[in-house]
Amino acid sequence: MTDHTAPTGPIENRPTALRTHLCGVLRDSDEGTKVRVCGWVGHRREHGEHLAFIDLRDHTGVIQCVIDTKVDVRSEWVIAIEGTVRRRPEGTVNPGLDTGEVEVGDCTVVVLNEAEPPPFSVDDRDESDEQVRLRYRYIDLRRPRMQRNLRLRARVNGAIRAAMDRQGFCEVETPLLWAPTPEGSREFSVPSRLHHGSFYALPQSPQLAKQLLMVGGFDRYYQIARCLRDEDLRADRQFEFSQLDMEVSFASQDDVMAYVSEAVLDAAEAATGERPPPITHMTWADALERFGTDKPDLRFGMELVDLGAEFEKTEVRAFSGSHLKALCVPGGAALTRSRLDALEEQAKRAGAAGLARFRVTAGEGDAALVLESPLDRFLSETERVALLEKTGAQEGDLILAVSDTHRIACTTLGTLRAALGSPPVGQGPHRYVWVVDFPMFDGVDAGGNPQPAHHPFTMPYEDDLPLLDTVPFAVRSQAYDLVLNGWELGSGSVRIHRRDIQARIFDTLGISTEEAEKRFGFLLSAFRYGAPPHAGFAFGIDRLAAVLAGEENIREVIAYPKTQSGADLLTGAPGPLPASALAELGIRTVPSPGTTPT
Ligand code: ASP
Repeated sequence: MTDHTAPTGPIENRPTALRTHLCGVLRDSDEGTKVRVCGWVGHRREHGEHLAFIDLRDHTGVIQCVIDTKVDVRSEWVIAIEGTVRRRPEGTVNPGLDTGEVEVGDCTVVVLNEAEPPPFSVDDRDESDEQVRLRYRYIDLRRPRMQRNLRLRARVNGAIRAAMDRQGFCEVETPLLWAPTPEGSREFSVPSRLHHGSFYALPQSPQLAKQLLMVGGFDRYYQIARCLRDEDLRADRQFEFSQLDMEVSFASQDDVMAYVSEAVLDAAEAATGERPPPITHMTWADALERFGTDKPDLRFGMELVDLGAEFEKTEVRAFSGSHLKALCVPGGAALTRSRLDALEEQAKRAGAAGLARFRVTAGEGDAALVLESPLDRFLSETERVALLEKTGAQEGDLILAVSDTHRIACTTLGTLRAALGSPPVGQGPHRYVWVVDFPMFDGVDAGGNPQPAHHPFTMPYEDDLPLLDTVPFAVRSQAYDLVLNGWELGSGSVRIHRRDIQARIFDTLGISTEEAEKRFGFLLSAFRYGAPPHAGFAFGIDRLAAVLAGEENIREVIAYPKTQSGADLLTGAPGPLPASALAELGIRTVPSPGTTPT
């Protein structure tokens, strides 16, 4: 079950023309008060013709109203009830309800609007099919869970804005219709009516706009920015998302991390009522070595250990890779054969040649622990002891080991560690960590050119610059990520503001001067006119809000999300355009492959 313990925050009663009180605020101290409450009809219990109990609901909660005249109202009708607050009779108090000590009696009911029967119950306990919930999202939004999540998100946004304002940042809005930005994802294009054949790009982030703001002298910029990326959708990814986007001049990586930490911790406190401890740092190399990933989930142990030294002269043929890494799965000896085979498949998909597994069982009599594995008879005594001692394995545990290149051995075990150990992202403690000192390049493109691990404007460490021409993959960048419970919340970097370094990076990336000019000419040109040293960051608010709300999927903190296939079930978008609109845009469509033209 998802944990929805986050407080909804204090409720202030705000009377309006039609109501005197919100439903959820009434208490025994209101006894005798004449009230007019408005909302939707929740549960109804009728006792004969002339006695009915109506649970009236608004976003603050429900209040029981006792009607002792004939009344005809149905589920989800919108009504106003006028009456007097009174204590519930002895024995009928409902301790599960904030308003459970009282009820509204002597009621007059005014129907403000009738409603068709809802396609699903607004009760939180009803886990309706998500497709139906999304089609009727406006009804789904009435549910306490969605009310709580979106209001929590609003508090997160408010706290972020307040933290950034307090730290001297200026909020600036940047265009949605713009030129491509360099994050490297597929982007959404918008056809221009006035310039047929030309397209705007919807921003993957305000990256270039914010760097230009630095040239423009806005030395502390932030924005809660909408970003759009045409990527496959997942639990932590939608086409459109919001991020806290920030950039600051004359500042270091540490400055940026301090500003962002303040905003994130404030947001967490606003959402949960508790301020997390200061956020710790870990280098990318350390994260890979110990957790096999650049997004370490620190809610549990199961750290990777290196057995290279102990197995240097091993006879085990399966351990002939350049690096041997292992981890201990507590209690893992009980995993079934088919589960272990599935883990091995997963290891192979992650690129490893194989996965060695050792069940740790008790030896006969006083004998030490035994490693159950076909590989055991090839192990020397030193190797057997090293496997047990370095992993810290105990009776009933399972040791998994991968021998391969360093990267593959680490990342494969990192994938298995997450699969075996990670609780659902929104559960358990919230463990934030800054991952710093990322490599400058990660992988190569089709032409064999190194690819930027962050984006092409990321500043390498000055000390590593000589390595650019010799071992570019050893160059570290001044890039940093913020990770929460194994989810990447965001990333940022110190930017290149010097043209000579930028030219060298473009050169290493295989971006010619002409191409750079074509893609980023406006930025490069601005950099000729006095670009200050600057650095920045952006983190995803949807992801942060989801974890803080105890949710596993960011759709639960978004009012109108898309489905996995990119559809908006409420409106039916995306949909075709009439021929006249296409003509106006100068666009002719072709049928998608596999469909018959009509
Ligand atoms: N633009 C980057 C992103 O959206 C973040 C940054 O470097 O500021 O991932």
